[in-house]
Amino acid sequence: LAAVELRGVTVRYRDTVALSGLNLSVARGRTVALLGPSGSGKSTALKVIAGFEQPAAGQVLLAGKDVTALAPAKRGVGVVVQSYALFPHLSIQQNVAFGLKGRGLSRQQLRERVAEALAVVHMEKYTKRYPAELSGGQQQRIAIARALAIKPPVLLLDEPLSALDAQLRQQMLAELQELRRELPDTAMIYVTHDQQEALALADDIAVMREARLVDMDVTERLYHQP
Ligand code: ADP
Ligand code: ADP
Repeated sequence: LAAVELRGVTVRYRDTVALSGLNLSVARGRTVALLGPSGSGKSTALKVIAGFEQPAAGQVLLAGKDVTALAPAKRGVGVVVQSYALFPHLSIQQNVAFGLKGRGLSRQQLRERVAEALAVVHMEKYTKRYPAELSGGQQQRIAIARALAIKPPVLLLDEPLSALDAQLRQQMLAELQELRRELPDTAMIYVTHDQQEALALADDIAVMREARLVDMDVTERLYHQP
C-alpha cells in the first residue's frame, strides 16, 4: 500500500497545464527525489499532495484513502518550502506548535511534542526566540521541526536548501540524511535541482518534464554507469 499516490492528476492554471495526467506512487519509508527543469510541474505535484492546489482531474490518495477533497490541515502532510515561511510575530515555540492546534493536546503534551521536534534538528534551546533572531540555516531547521511536529507519515520538501549558502547546504544535507535515518517509516518527496542532493538522500529518482513524469528508477540504477 503506497503512502502517497497520484492517479491521473491534471492541474491547470488558466492557459498552463502544470500537471498532465500524473501518476506517482511512493511507498512508506521511501524517499523520492523529484528532478526536472524549472516549470516542469514539481512544485505543483507537491501542492496537490498537500492540498494547496485542487486537481482538474485525477485523485490523490494517502495510505490508500482518497483525500482529493480534503482540506490541507486534515491531510496530516508535513511541508517544507525553500524560504522557511516562519511566522515572524510568533516565537519558535509557537511556530513549531502551530500545526498541533486543535488536536486536543494539553499544554504539557504540546510542549513535549515541540521539544521533541526541535531536538531532531538540534534547536531545542531556541523556543523563546523569534525567527528574525536566527540565521537562515537555523530558520530552515525550525521550518523542518514545524513539519515534523505533527508526526506526518508523508513529508514534502520543496528545495529546502536552495536559499542557503554552499557550506551551510553541505551541513544541512548531512542533517537531512540523519533525519531520514531517524524517520524510517516516513515517505518523503524531495524536490531539487541538485543531483548531489538527490544522490545523497533518495532511494528513487523521478524525473519530470513538461507536466509529465518521464522517468523513475532506483537511484543506483539511474546514476550507475557500467
Ligand atoms: P517547477 O516546480 O517544476 O518549477 P511548477 O510546478 O512551479 O514547476 O510550475 C509548473 C507550471 O505551472 C509552470 O509553467 C508555472 O509557471 C505554472 N504555474 C505554477 N504555479 C502557477 C500559478 N499559481 N499560476 C499560474 N501558473 C502557475
Ligand atoms: P515554486 O516554484 O517553488 O512554487 P515560485 O517562486 O515559482 O515557487 O512561486 C511562488 C508562488 O507563485 C507559488 O505560490 C506559485 O504557485 C506561484 N506561481 C508560480 N508560477 C506562477 C505563474 N506563472 N503565475 C502566477 N503565479 C505563479
